[in-house]
Amino acid sequence: MGLSELEEHFLIEVGSRRGAAIAARVQGEEPTSGEIARARMATRALEKRMRDRPLHGDGRTTGRWLETDHLRDRLLGNLEHPRWSEVAERCLACANCTMVCPTCFCTTVEEVPDLSGDSVTRMRRWESCFTWEHSYTAAGPVHPTTQSRYRQWLTHKLASWHDQFGTSGCVGCGRCITWCPVGIDLTEEVAALGNEVPHG
Ligand code: SF4
Ligand code: SF4
Repeated sequence: MGLSELEEHFLIEVGSRRGAAIAARVQGEEPTSGEIARARMATRALEKRMRDRPLHGDGRTTGRWLETDHLRDRLLGNLEHPRWSEVAERCLACANCTMVCPTCFCTTVEEVPDLSGDSVTRMRRWESCFTWEHSYTAAGPVHPTTQSRYRQWLTHKLASWHDQFGTSGCVGCGRCITWCPVGIDLTEEVAALGNEVPHG
């Protein structure tokens, strides 16, 4: 299913039987031809913005793309690359990227007592690998620095997901880029690590 945000509502476009089953449960109206045209124009404007985007601020208009050849090995072979500390100087560890990512699934469990002290509710809530608590163990946090947390996020998403689930953890939606308050772009970070697979 594809959602296009119009001024007053969303245009839903269905591309599969499962999508059609979900859409059938949503109350709505048939779109007008004007609404469909507005959604198309917005999509084309976005495509143009992506295409014309200068890459790495050097003035070339090469658009945004992610080189996926040998990506798993390139990332896992570059765990000590200086780029990780460079990106950590910008990253606020705010967790926005993980909250908007459609494939991030980490949660934590909390026990919340009521004010009388008579009962405790065990609650599961969203958690992020960017928080200090996320990797906390009896010996302390496994990822104590922003550098180690950003590296954990990117290498899990684009590299070790292949080992875990047999596919990439990134669907290419770009939400993490849109919602990053300091403009960190995973396609730039991957490109900065280079295209070589380190040996040895
Ligand atoms: S572009 Fe990839 S990593 Fe970023 S939010 Fe979308 S699926 Fe997640
Ligand atoms: S949204 Fe940006 S600043 Fe926030 S944790 Fe993700 S990469 Fe870091």
